[in-house]
Amino acid sequence: MSPPARPQRQSSRPNGQWKVDGTAPLNANEAWKQEDGGLSVRERIEKIYSKRGFESIEDTDLHGRMRWWGLYTQRKPGIDGGKTATLEPHELEDKYFMLRVRIDGGQLTSTQLRVIGEISTEFGRDSADLTDRQNIQLHWIRVEDVPEIWRRLEAVGLQTTEACGDVPRVILGSPVAGIAADELIDPTGLISEITARYIGDLSLANLPRKFKTAITGHPSQDVVHEINDISFVGVEHPELGTGFDLWVGGGLSTAPRLAERLGVFIIPERVAEVWQGVAALFRDYGYRRLRNKARLKFLLADWGPEKFRRILESEFLETALPDGPPAAAPTRQGDHVGVHKQADGRFYIGVTPFVGRVSGPTLTSLADLLEANGSTRLRTTPHQKLVLLDIPEEKVESLIVALDKIGLAARPSLFRRSTIACTGIEYCKLAIVETKQAATDAVLDLEQRLAGIDVPQPISLHVNGCPNSCARIQTADIGLKGQLLPDGDGGQVPGFQVHLGGGLASVDRDAAGLGRTVRGLKVTAEDLADYVERIVLRFIADRTGSE
Ligand code: SF4
Repeated sequence: MSPPARPQRQSSRPNGQWKVDGTAPLNANEAWKQEDGGLSVRERIEKIYSKRGFESIEDTDLHGRMRWWGLYTQRKPGIDGGKTATLEPHELEDKYFMLRVRIDGGQLTSTQLRVIGEISTEFGRDSADLTDRQNIQLHWIRVEDVPEIWRRLEAVGLQTTEACGDVPRVILGSPVAGIAADELIDPTGLISEITARYIGDLSLANLPRKFKTAITGHPSQDVVHEINDISFVGVEHPELGTGFDLWVGGGLSTAPRLAERLGVFIIPERVAEVWQGVAALFRDYGYRRLRNKARLKFLLADWGPEKFRRILESEFLETALPDGPPAAAPTRQGDHVGVHKQADGRFYIGVTPFVGRVSGPTLTSLADLLEANGSTRLRTTPHQKLVLLDIPEEKVESLIVALDKIGLAARPSLFRRSTIACTGIEYCKLAIVETKQAATDAVLDLEQRLAGIDVPQPISLHVNGCPNSCARIQTADIGLKGQLLPDGDGGQVPGFQVHLGGGLASVDRDAAGLGRTVRGLKVTAEDLADYVERIVLRFIADRTGSE
């Protein structure tokens, strides 16, 4: 029996779908993207803005096109969260930039890491954050220094091209691609092929919104595939061999939604073609009228997976795709923290700073440490962590001690391991509250309070500084959405709305689903550790079986 038809979007107004409504822009954003796309701003940055300074930057370039090169203005220091909604954007912004370095597949060499560390120290006041999309973000960047930063990054094969903007963003890849003993298939070559062919290519440089990709061939499904616009997850087909299961339409923030499977099997040779087909389908059929309805998930919600597959195959691919086997369940937790044996007998070590925060000197020291221990390779992860590869067995324990000294723990507490935080009010113009320090303080506090208590598995704590979901709050056991709360004395204090019970199969095998807002449940930043301690103790007391 076929499933019931999904209700179609009923609207007499055009939604800005190029193939349905034509390409006439329906808002100012779409107008400037068509007139002169984001990639064109690089020439002006190099020839004009870097020479004449911040004040010379034209408004649409500053607040639009510069994102296509990974540049956002950062928040002016000292503006409290209560003013985020009331001040004009230009009153909130500083003349410095956040610069996002895209690291496709999370794959880095020690030479590349050292270059990022040196740029952080020389141009970014030592700032560096590991993001939950395998990027590294630097802050305090002046437009005057951007051309030199690009020169240094590109000299070692790194780029900021399309790190932000309405484009194909960084491609998440398994952090243990090509080295894990239990890997099904190594996606490294596929990620390189897509990146080389399509990143910076004008045919996909004007999408309705951002387009997020994840590819893994590891059985732990370690790339949070459920919340990407398109994901390829390694699977065995009984007749066709090893290939990929295709998921589309995941995304958080407005109207959070987990991705759905199209039920197809993709042989490795067709991954780049299918990726391009889905991206082109999004370009041509995605909704462009309202930016908060423009992600691929809204189109999938209206079409459903059957229609999506039919249009993909008939209009964007050369031949139809074979049906795939049922989805495989992940085999284990996929954050790769700790010490693990590689296929070649050497070891990889997953380490965690606090909530992704590192620094230029930390990155430079790490590059030195790696090389001193016989390795030149490492990976970033979708969990704000790092994985160091190719460590000889006899070096593992001494390296772990040295890593601890630079703030990278290979054997962290459960809370340090499973807490992530977004940028927050320190740099983000949309933020209402501070996040990184609040989360770090809570972790340190919880490590003391719950020392000696047997917490059966990591309890994830994700901290956002505003209603957006850069730290994926709906996918955490405890998700915290920043807002100001009454202090009982007529004023306001930083705090959080609580979401409970979210999870991704790829992070916690037993828990796939979006967390729920608990009506009225809010906690101040100051009481955060108290609150988490209470929840954890109650969970331990009340849980049944292996819950
Ligand atoms: Fe900024 Fe909000 Fe994203 Fe945090 S969740 S980085 S505060 S936009």
